Amino acid sequence: VVEITALRKSYGSVEVLKGIDLSVARGEVVCIIGKSGSGKSTLLRCINGLETFQDGALRVDGQPLLHDSATHMRALRQRVGMIFQSFNLFPHLSVGRNIMLAPTLVQHKSPADAAALARTLLARVGLAEKFDAMPDQLSGGQQQRVAIARALAMQPQVLLCDEITSALDPELVGEVLRVVELLAQEGMTLMMVTHEMAFARKVSDRVVFMHQGRVHEMGPPAQIFGAPQTPELQQFLASLH
Ligand code: ATP
Ligand code: MG
Repeated sequence: VVEITALRKSYGSVEVLKGIDLSVARGEVVCIIGKSGSGKSTLLRCINGLETFQDGALRVDGQPLLHDSATHMRALRQRVGMIFQSFNLFPHLSVGRNIMLAPTLVQHKSPADAAALARTLLARVGLAEKFDAMPDQLSGGQQQRVAIARALAMQPQVLLCDEITSALDPELVGEVLRVVELLAQEGMTLMMVTHEMAFARKVSDRVVFMHQGRVHEMGPPAQIFGAPQTPELQQFLASLH
C-alpha cells in the first residue's frame, strides 16, 4: 500500500530524512520507534503530503505522490488517514458532526448516510452513546477515539498514527490502544510512531527503528526487542528502562 524509495527531506540545509526505503503491505502493522529528532514524525508527514521532500519517491496504493496538483493532494488525503498526539477535534461541532464533516464535504455523502456512518464508527470505538456530545465533554481518551473514528470515516487505505497516546493520562492510554489493536485485527494497514514498547511488541508485524534520519534496523518485534543487532538500537532500548 505504501512504497517509499530513497526518500530524502531537508529543512533548509539540515537533512532530516537521509534516504528512507520502506514498503508496507496491505493489512500490515508497522510500528516506528527511535529517539526524539530521528525523523519519525517527518516521515509520517511526508506520507500524507503534509511535507514536501527533496528526493526519492513515495507511492500510496500505486499512485506516486506529487505535490504539484491540489486535486491530487485531496485524493491522497482521502487514502491516507492521520491521527496526532493532539486530538484536533472541532470544538464547536458535536462528536457526530466532527465525524460527518469530511464525508459530507469531501465525498459528498448525504447527511443521513454520513450520520449513519458516524454512528457505526462511534460504536466501533466504543462511544455509541456520544453522538451528540461536545468534544469538551469527553475525556482525552474518548476524544482520541473520536479522532480515530473521524479518520476512519474517509475509509483510508492506511492509517498513520503519531504518538497518539502521548498526551493522555496513563489510565486513558489503554482504551485508545485497544481500539488500535482492534483495527489491526480487522486488517487495517497501520503505521504507528509510538513509545508504548509493550504494545509495539504485541501488535506489530514489523518494527522500524529510526536513527538520525535513517531506517537503522527493521524486523519482526521478537528480533527488534529480543535480539537487537546494532549498538544504536541496543542503547535506545536500554535507555527506556
Ligand atoms: P520526536 O520523538 O521528538 O517526536 P521525531 O523522531 O518525530 O522526534 P521529527 O519531528 O521528525 O523527529 O524531527 C526530525 C528533525 O527535523 C529534528 O531535528 C527536528 O528538529 C527537525 N524538524 C522537524 N520539523 C522541522 C521544521 N518544521 N523546521 C525545521 N526543522 C524541523
Ligand atoms: Mg515526532
